[in-house]
Formats: sequence, C-alpha cells, structure tokens
Amino acid sequence: MSDKPISKSRRDAVKVMLGTAAAIPMINLVGFGTARASAPANAVAADDATAIALKYHANAAESERVAAARPGLPPEEQHCANCQFMQADAAGATDEWKGCQLFPGKLINVNGWCASWTLKAG
Ligand code: SF4
Repeated sequence: MSDKPISKSRRDAVKVMLGTAAAIPMINLVGFGTARASAPANAVAADDATAIALKYHANAAESERVAAARPGLPPEEQHCANCQFMQADAAGATDEWKGCQLFPGKLINVNGWCASWTLKAG
C-alpha cells in the first residue's frame, strides 16, 4: 500500500529532473545567441591598427568626437550611421553592424565614431 505514493513521488521527481536537464541546454543556446548578436566575428576590434590610428570606438559616446570637433554636425550627433563612409549594404551587414570604406572586409557599429567622420551628403 505504501509503495504507490512513494513510486508516484519518485516518478514526479524524475520528471522534474528531466525537465531541468532539458532546460539547461536551452538556456545555454539563448546565451550563446545573445553573445553572437552583440558583435559579429569580423567587427572592427579595439586593437585593430586602423581603428587605433583613426580613434575608432564602437560607442561614439565614449569616443573622442567632442575633442575632434569634426565639422558638419555637433559632436554629440556624429556617429557612423550618418557618416558618408558607412556602407549599409556590405556583406554581413545587420541593422547594428555595417561596412565602412576605411575598414574593408570588416563591420563597424552604426553607433560608433572615428576621426574620419564626415557628414553623409544629403
Ligand atoms: S569613417 Fe565614418 S563610418 Fe567609418 S568608422 Fe569612421 S565614422 Fe564610422
């Protein structure tokens, strides 16, 4: 008589463990996908020689755009998305990552900035 409740309890415990075990790989997949979306493999790296020379930063707000005072727009409005060198249709481009004529084969962040920023013509 007492076997039935214990047996059911064991079955429930096994179901919970199996459910948890199945959920862990799903959590890992979600985390992996998020990390990949944040920066593509061919994104311009902070230690890229051209990036250093041009003071490129993937986040314009943390760049030297204020000190550079490039003409065309107030510094706080300057970013890759409104630069004439950005290539929206580069291979591998996404909404956040685009090509740039100054970084062939690589992707820059649309919210980035570098010392060659030039206002995109009308
Ligand atoms: S040249 Fe323009 S698009 Fe390219 S990294 Fe510099 S600011 Fe961004």
